[in-house]
Amino acid sequence: MTRFTDIYLRRVFKTIEKNRLVENSDRIFVALSGGKDSASCLYCVKRFADERNIDCEIKGFYINLDDSPEVREPIKSLVEKLDIELIEIEPPDIRKYRGSRPICSVCGIVKRYLMNKIPREKGATKIATGHNMDDFIVFFLKNLVGKNYSWISNFKPKVESTHPKLLTRIRPLFNVGNREDERFCEEMKIPYTKKHICRFKARECSYNRKRDNWYSTLYEIEKWNKSFRQQMISAIEDVSTLFKKEEDLKECSICGEPSNKEICAYCRIFGDASGGI
Ligand code: SF4
Ligand code: ZN
Repeated sequence: MTRFTDIYLRRVFKTIEKNRLVENSDRIFVALSGGKDSASCLYCVKRFADERNIDCEIKGFYINLDDSPEVREPIKSLVEKLDIELIEIEPPDIRKYRGSRPICSVCGIVKRYLMNKIPREKGATKIATGHNMDDFIVFFLKNLVGKNYSWISNFKPKVESTHPKLLTRIRPLFNVGNREDERFCEEMKIPYTKKHICRFKARECSYNRKRDNWYSTLYEIEKWNKSFRQQMISAIEDVSTLFKKEEDLKECSICGEPSNKEICAYCRIFGDASGGI
């Protein structure tokens, strides 16, 4: 361990401990994408459970979007290294979608839907994702500018379930950002893929380009205000408690999954939720 990895790990452990993200008898599925954030998330959750002797099950969960070996291989070597079971699924082919939504929006709906449904059906109590501090600061600013206040209540390390079919979502990396995750993976030799490779698009989508602009802006500010991101995420966590998500969750009349509309977004796209899974 170096001084950096020690500080990083202590910060992530503090987030896990303070928010009770990992507890006895939990069955946690950690969503893996091949990237640095989800790789670090799995590593930290596993290490926390081992070091604190927590009696819980941890599994890797991977939605294979027809990914290349550059994405699949690091995931396989990570779960092997940590001796963790990997649940891998293939979603319906989103390239067949002919509607007007941008492909990234369809992709997001599919991933969110399956990330709740499949782990729950396989006995999970919680789903962990690698969303980090920078992601939440950017989500927050975008939602604020768009006057989309209802989402702000979700910007915290743990979002409790509000429906029997909805898993509790945990974000162990809530207090560390992109650069820290990358450096941690490098120094700890945690396998991850360095490129964002998408099979559905020949080049980086505009969504990712815009997101990268936001990230660079955060790091620009940090050049003259060293603790900007830390201060911002702490303020966001406080503010999130002031908002209440007005969510009237029912069950989708086609697939039975939780939804705030009569038919969930996934079924509106695919018509039949059983297709291809
Ligand atoms: Fe999905 Fe590709 Fe868009 Fe990422 S870039 S959200 S993998 S379609
Ligand atoms: Zn549905």
